[in-house]
Amino acid sequence: MSDRIQLLPDNIANQIAAGEVIQRPSSAVKELLENAVDAGATEIKLIVADAGKSLIQVIDNGSGMSETDARMSFERHATSKISNIDDLFRIRTMGFRGEALASIAAVAQVELKSRREEDDAGTYIEIENSLVKKQEPIAFQVGTSIAMKNVFFNVPARRNFLKSNAVEMRHIVDEFIRVAMAFPEIFFSLTANGQEIFHLGSGSLKQRIVHLLGNNYTAKLVNVQENTDYLNIYGFAGKPEIAKKTRGDQYFFVNNRFIRSAYLNHAVMSAYQQMIPADSFPMYVLFIDLDPAQIDINVHPTKQEIKFEDEKIIYAFVQAAVKHALAQFSIMPTLNFDLDPGIQQLDAVSKPFTDEKKVHAAASSLYNTFTQKNQAHLIESKSELKHWKDFFPAKESQIEPLQKDTVPDKLEYEQSAIGLAANAIQKLQLLENADLLQLHNTYMAASTNQGFILIHQQAAHERILYERYVTAAKGRPIATQRSLFPLTVQLTTPDAVLLQDLLPDLQMLGYEIELFGKDTFVVQGTPADVDQGNEKVAIEQMLEQYKHFNNDVKFSKREKLIRSLAWQHAVKPGRFLAQKEMKALADELFACAQPNITPSGNPTYIAFKKDYLERMFGR
Ligand code: ADP
Ligand code: MG
Repeated sequence: MSDRIQLLPDNIANQIAAGEVIQRPSSAVKELLENAVDAGATEIKLIVADAGKSLIQVIDNGSGMSETDARMSFERHATSKISNIDDLFRIRTMGFRGEALASIAAVAQVELKSRREEDDAGTYIEIENSLVKKQEPIAFQVGTSIAMKNVFFNVPARRNFLKSNAVEMRHIVDEFIRVAMAFPEIFFSLTANGQEIFHLGSGSLKQRIVHLLGNNYTAKLVNVQENTDYLNIYGFAGKPEIAKKTRGDQYFFVNNRFIRSAYLNHAVMSAYQQMIPADSFPMYVLFIDLDPAQIDINVHPTKQEIKFEDEKIIYAFVQAAVKHALAQFSIMPTLNFDLDPGIQQLDAVSKPFTDEKKVHAAASSLYNTFTQKNQAHLIESKSELKHWKDFFPAKESQIEPLQKDTVPDKLEYEQSAIGLAANAIQKLQLLENADLLQLHNTYMAASTNQGFILIHQQAAHERILYERYVTAAKGRPIATQRSLFPLTVQLTTPDAVLLQDLLPDLQMLGYEIELFGKDTFVVQGTPADVDQGNEKVAIEQMLEQYKHFNNDVKFSKREKLIRSLAWQHAVKPGRFLAQKEMKALADELFACAQPNITPSGNPTYIAFKKDYLERMFGR
């Protein structure tokens, strides 16, 4: 018997290989667009006809190719992007396998035109079924145009597998969006059957997202940004109110490459936990940038899946970054007063809190922002505090803050508390020059002369602001910073009536707001220490909080306003604080008349004394 094994001819080998890379017209769209990006183009035009079945053409103004490179580019494993195995772990380009053009040429008729800046003439190559049909010099602008015609003309079985034009076009648009989203600085256009359906000028990521996904996202995006030594995360997360019932606009990019990752998606979903109904999907566009050595992109033929060196870290970062962003923009007003019926149905709101859930939820810093007192759906009782008390025998307990029920009302404690607090402070002092340590972006541990304390950053800040505002209201108004671009804020009629009533007091506190026609106000200035640009949200939140205090008849209008503002402007849990900020916060706290409790009577810190700690350790 003779031997039977033979090498496959190139074009058949290429066709088989193409099966992995070019599954449908949209796969070619992705590869061609990515090549244009890799070539450094600033303008990329995609033209398709017949949902890509008869034509896919990408024209770019990138580097172009020499005659030899143009010819070489269609060979399998021909790439200019890596040259040895180590390069595989330094990849910054979209492509690197040198398979795309070879695959495209194996299953279609291809026309390439290309010219480099330094060449007088460009190159024209016609290739079909992996065979070069024609090659000649041409006049051409700098850049490259690759047209792929009649995909699968020579593989009828696969051509028959193509779906309807509508379906194939949807796939093409999806791929186009994924590439265009990652490079907002590049101009992109998409023309289908002679009609331009996208025309995306170079701009910011936010503009690009809105252009691609629709105007209705304009005011609904929360900025996500977290930089660490290990990785950077940036992008946008949709506000909870725009979560959809269908999985839709969810985009993850790792080093600008769109990827699918159920695991990371889960990280985002968990950050939204209790903010959106269980069966809905938040919108997000998130970019993770990290050292290419930390990932393996070479685990999937179309590179849509990647392997992280340490997936858990990425998960934790993504979750924290999104939580942080959502907390910072404090989405509470929607939860607060006009309790959204969708939210009321949330398990977290409607069902009793099991212990297991409680522990889980308490770990989330957002939870804390949701369980503010006076909220319509207050879930929690002061469980954590009781915990501590149980933990420390009552007599030896070093918990200094007063319990809520023992808090005297405003007047009483103004008179009595000073002595009380002074007493406490005398004993307790922060160690100078000792660094503070932030825990869970919520607590600050600080060494004291007696042991250490855990300060709750929001509670502490609330106290500081409260006292500052009280002083202001007593006749030392807070400086106003006038806005360069006064903002108009349109409110509902009841809110407008309420705000108008509060205007004189708000002025004392640094707000310069004027009525500007029915239910509309102009914000001319804000307190000097309040970030500008978010006035509308700030005012709405302040009003919502005010309405909660409104049931509390024992407070004056001004007292309620001050409490609302202190609560609203205080740093929220989840916010990273630099060493300097922590120091300032701690110093200001202990400069307060009543440093140990918030205006509503929660502790601002818990103290642990050395001798007690030692006993705990059996010393
Ligand atoms: P890869 O992108 O993995 O390198 P491709 O088959 O997609 O492989 O492309 C092969 C090579 O052809 C690329 O490495 C690049 O040098 C060149 N090339 C492809 N498209 C372009 C383009 N639009 N502009 C300039 N060079 C290109
Ligand atoms: Mg490529």
